[in-house]
Amino acid sequence: MTRTVPTPEEMHALGGELAALLRAGDLVVLRGDLGAGKTTLTQGIGAGLGVRGAVTSPTFVIARVHPSVTGGPALVHVDAYRLGSLAEVDDLDLDASLAESVTVVEWGAGLVEGLADDRLEVTVSRALGAGGDETRTVDVVAVGERWAGAALPA
Ligand code: ADP
Ligand code: MG
Repeated sequence: MTRTVPTPEEMHALGGELAALLRAGDLVVLRGDLGAGKTTLTQGIGAGLGVRGAVTSPTFVIARVHPSVTGGPALVHVDAYRLGSLAEVDDLDLDASLAESVTVVEWGAGLVEGLADDRLEVTVSRALGAGGDETRTVDVVAVGERWAGAALPA
């Protein structure tokens, strides 16, 4: 799917729509420039999953676990911006997260694809709206058996 998302509120809401599809063991890889809206989308996913703790852009923390307060899977939010190699990704030891939690990785494109055969690849891009105002487009591509036949948001 590709959708035009004109406001942060709608970005948050789209995260909620994605969260409704996500279950334990799922991986979401977020691509997009600084300021594109990746963390905003992740906040919406966290809200949809009913997790505890503010989902922020961590400056020093690379991976943060947000337990669910509703009995669902935890959200593991990874910011891979400062990670340069697969070895550093390995050091994060995401295996447990990838098995039990919903793992969302900002800046993970080109780094984490090898961790899971099944994933949602989400690209957030800045775009100009009809009135010349700044908006965003969000493109979601489902990869792997897990998502075969799954209905993504339109
Ligand atoms: P990233 O994590 O990709 O660096 P953020 O989620 O931190 O980006 O968002 C950067 C800024 O863009 C924030 O001020 C946020 O409110 C704003 N923003 C997010 N989504 C949208 C949108 N769809 N339209 C306009 N502004 C947005
Ligand atoms: Mg961010």
